[in-house]
Amino acid sequence: MTIEKIETFVLKDKLSKSFFFSQWEYSERCICVVKVTASNGQFGWGEGYGPANILEAGIKFLEPHVLGQNPLENEVIWNTMYRKTLDYARRGILVASISAIDIALWDLKGKILNLPISTLLGGAHRKKIKPYATGLYFTDHNNPSRDFEQEVALYKSQGFKAIKMKVGLGVNEDYENVKKMRQLLGKDIELMIDSNHAYTLRESLALCKKIEPFDISWFEEPISPEYYKQYSELRSKTSIPISGGECEYLRFGFHQLLRNNSVDIIQPDICASGGLTEAKRIAALASTYGVDVVPHTWGTAIGIHVALHFIANLENMPGRMKCPDFLIEYDQTENGLRERLTHPKIIMKDGMIEVPTAPGLGLEVDEQVLIEYSTKNENVNDTVF
Ligand SMILES: [Mg+2]
Repeated sequence: MTIEKIETFVLKDKLSKSFFFSQWEYSERCICVVKVTASNGQFGWGEGYGPANILEAGIKFLEPHVLGQNPLENEVIWNTMYRKTLDYARRGILVASISAIDIALWDLKGKILNLPISTLLGGAHRKKIKPYATGLYFTDHNNPSRDFEQEVALYKSQGFKAIKMKVGLGVNEDYENVKKMRQLLGKDIELMIDSNHAYTLRESLALCKKIEPFDISWFEEPISPEYYKQYSELRSKTSIPISGGECEYLRFGFHQLLRNNSVDIIQPDICASGGLTEAKRIAALASTYGVDVVPHTWGTAIGIHVALHFIANLENMPGRMKCPDFLIEYDQTENGLRERLTHPKIIMKDGMIEVPTAPGLGLEVDEQVLIEYSTKNENVNDTVF
């Protein structure tokens, strides 16, 4: 059996209402999805994280090196793709193109062998994962926190036990927003904050000192991802756990974060940092440093499904009889692609999501919806994703 066809789809959607965070504004979604078909007619789906048109170009570049290969030998194919890009793209968007193909190959392999990806990875240590809501972006430039109350009420009614909010507007404004958020949530809901690398070390530390009383589960990307040692210094001066890594690539990039003691939690995006093949290596590396792994997820349910299988397979370090729940990021911002593209729908029950048990990723793509989003909104630009 060989790989016979690779198809890419750039899916675009215009949002009904734009939202923003510390860096820029979102008014559209644009995502590159890939379908890899084997000579027996079976196929797998993958997704990349990053600007979709560039991702698509990367997949087309890699295509001749993947066609004709044995889809069951996904590690061999991964290494070929890595070698073909290493000399001029050791980090960044071409690694995301590799990731998209790699995920499609895992899905395909699971379907060929009639096994879910979590089993292919070595087994599911847990059957259910705890989603945390990613939301609480800013919606109004004059009063950025205006819609927080309504949004929190919705997440509470849906049963979320953990919620992540955006910060990065300025230390004092963030302090007021975090204080208000803790009051809205009460004591029993976990609260994380994410500045998307908006701050200097001094500003991050000032914010940490002000919000330490509010029981923050982690402060994500406080500082630019370039400053590994500043992360380490911040970490040594605050009781708030520090997380990062959504801009990091491959085990080599994560090794920088780990060996500099930069973070308590690494957050590789499986659709960008090298796919599932590399994510498993990154998790093994993190376990040697005693650092937790909570992947970054964004995009369609393909990305969420791949994270569910990956998290199910993560080791408990250290092990104990009563294990803590493992977390998955569950973006709640408007995204028709996440809601409509795949079946079955993701269901959260009692604040948990079950790990899929059907072969591969455990989902079907609605190809009618795929075509609909591939052809509509052709004028939507590709600067956001
Ligand atoms: Mg983030």
